[in-house]
Amino acid sequence: MCGIVGAVGSRNIVPVLVEGLKRLEYRGYDSCGVAVLQDGQLRRSRSTQRVAELGQQTEHDGIASTVGIAHTRWATHGVPAVHNAHPHFSHGPGADAPTTKPGRVALVHNGIIENHEELRRELQAKGYVFLSQTDTEVIAHLVDHLYDGDLFAAVKAATARLTGAYAIAVFHRDEPQRVIGARQGSPLIMGVGGVDASERFLASDAMALAGVTDQIVYLEEGDVVDVQLGKYWLIDKAHKTV
Ligand code: GLU
Repeated sequence: MCGIVGAVGSRNIVPVLVEGLKRLEYRGYDSCGVAVLQDGQLRRSRSTQRVAELGQQTEHDGIASTVGIAHTRWATHGVPAVHNAHPHFSHGPGADAPTTKPGRVALVHNGIIENHEELRRELQAKGYVFLSQTDTEVIAHLVDHLYDGDLFAAVKAATARLTGAYAIAVFHRDEPQRVIGARQGSPLIMGVGGVDASERFLASDAMALAGVTDQIVYLEEGDVVDVQLGKYWLIDKAHKTV
């Protein structure tokens, strides 16, 4: 079981994401990555090297933002390679995607999606272009497809279509300062407060947030959480507000 870290902060949160991944290294991984919303665009660094090298790469690439997600991967579908490393971006639909259409959705996932082949066929028929062999990429495209101006609603609808195990963290290009998390069969927690009371974090393990916050909300099976600066919103598997 590998790692997820996500953040909506009041400062550049990339060092927090990288440090969080370092704290999750003990779980094992074959690749790692960070994605942020920067100047209105999705940007990412991914690597098959260690998290320390990924950290240097983010600095070299100038990756910085107040909102982002990060991942250590233990490959289940697709070889350990940069193109299969998370975060995954949605691309399309459109014959010219992904070269001319920038992604709108960035997503990390721990677990296994059992109905990924069926979903991939459905999304390919709608014009979505797949750039990896992962089961995860279908979730990014599915969220993109179901998106109608509200990422929380799109993730809620997308997770209802998934069978298997997942912890996910996802953000959308058009909704800055918002990360949505969801879990079923894989762990995910939320951290409240950081350098100020408004910061919010997601992680697969509270240990990832050591030194950042000790106020932890443990998500339950089927929960979906809307993480924003200064607030959060949580629904359970029956879609009732918690
Ligand atoms: N099944 C996904 C993949 O192979 C996620 C693996 C993980 O939990 O890191 O990319």
